[in-house]
Amino acid sequence: MMHQMRAEYGAGGEAGGVRLWHMVRGTQSVAMCGRELDPGAPVRETVDWGKTPELCCHTCGAYFLRETPYLSAEHQ
Ligand SMILES: [Zn+2]
Repeated sequence: MMHQMRAEYGAGGEAGGVRLWHMVRGTQSVAMCGRELDPGAPVRETVDWGKTPELCCHTCGAYFLRETPYLSAEHQ
């Protein structure tokens, strides 16, 4: 299953910049942790998970690693 990272804006929406990165399935705008994200928010490839200057959502990270065992194996 394809995933991608999608940004959650801080206070003030787009002008507030990226507050947190979530993981979504496919091109959905609802994060794996259940948070609804702006459909126009920036996306990144999953290889950037944990490498962004902004924080990544811990809940999304846990779900993502469970669905992509090959990635969690790399982290052990
Ligand atoms: Zn999340």
